[in-house]
Amino acid sequence: MSLTLSSAHVHTTFCDGKTPAPDMARAAFEKGFVSLGFSSHAPQDFDPGYCIDPPREEEYKALIRSLQREYEGRMTVYLGIERDLYSCVSPEGYDYYLAAVHYFLQPDGHHAPIDGKPERLRQYVDAYCGGDGMEMARRYFALLRDYVVSWKTPIIAHFDLIRKNNAPLRLFDEESAVYQRLALDALRPMADTGALLEVNTGAIARGYLTTPYPAPFLLKAWKEWGGEVIVNSDCHDMRYLDIHFAESEALLRSLGYDHAVWLGKDTLWERYSL
Ligand SMILES: [Zn+2]
Ligand SMILES: [Zn+2]
Repeated sequence: MSLTLSSAHVHTTFCDGKTPAPDMARAAFEKGFVSLGFSSHAPQDFDPGYCIDPPREEEYKALIRSLQREYEGRMTVYLGIERDLYSCVSPEGYDYYLAAVHYFLQPDGHHAPIDGKPERLRQYVDAYCGGDGMEMARRYFALLRDYVVSWKTPIIAHFDLIRKNNAPLRLFDEESAVYQRLALDALRPMADTGALLEVNTGAIARGYLTTPYPAPFLLKAWKEWGGEVIVNSDCHDMRYLDIHFAESEALLRSLGYDHAVWLGKDTLWERYSL
C-alpha cells in the first residue's frame, strides 16, 4: 500500500490512453485517492495519434469538469494537460500542466519522437547529431531546460525521458561523468523556478524501465537544492494508476525526502508525509 493517493499525470481515450476518463476516475476513487488530475496530451499539429484531436479539446474540458462536479467532496478532480514543447495550444484555462519534450524539431520541419520507436530516434541521431548519442542528450536537456525556465512550468514531466530509448539503443553511457554533468546542469536552473519535479513511474508499467524517471542521482541533487517532488504514474491504463508508488516513496525516503507534493483536496498543491 502506498502513501501517495493521487496522480497528476493520467491519460485516457481522449489521447493515447486505453481507459475512458469516467472509468479512470472511478478506479482512482475506489483506490481511495484524495485527488486525480487528468493530463491528456495537449493538441499538436503533427503526430495526431498521440494527442487530443484539436476539435475535441472543448469536449475534453467539459467532460473533466463534469467529473469534477460528480466527485466533489469525495475526491478532487483536476483538469490538466501534458503540454509538449511543440504543442499548438496555450495551457490557459487548465488547472495546471506538465511540461514535456517528446520530440526534436528537424531542420526539414518534421518532428522526431524521443520516446517513440527506437529506430526513429536512431535515425535522428545519425542524420542530425553525427551519430553522437551524447549530442542528442545535450540537445534534449537544453530544450527542456529552456522550456521550464522560460515558461515557469508547474511540473517537469519525465525529466530524463531519453533513458527510455537509451535502454535498447545504448546511445550514451548513463553512468558517465559527462552525461551526469549534462543532466545536472540542465536541472539546476529549474530548481530556482519552483517547478515540481515529477517522479514518473509510467515506463515501469509499460516494461521499458525498472526505475522511475528521473535517475536517483538527479533526485538526490534536487533535494540538496531544496526542490519539491510529485509522484505520478503517467498512467495510460487504469490498472496501473499507482504502479511502483510504494517503491518510489522508499527511494525518495532513502534520498532524504520526508514529504512530497500532490494535487490537494482543497488547494492545488499540498504536501504529504513520506
Ligand atoms: Zn510524456
Ligand atoms: Zn504522459
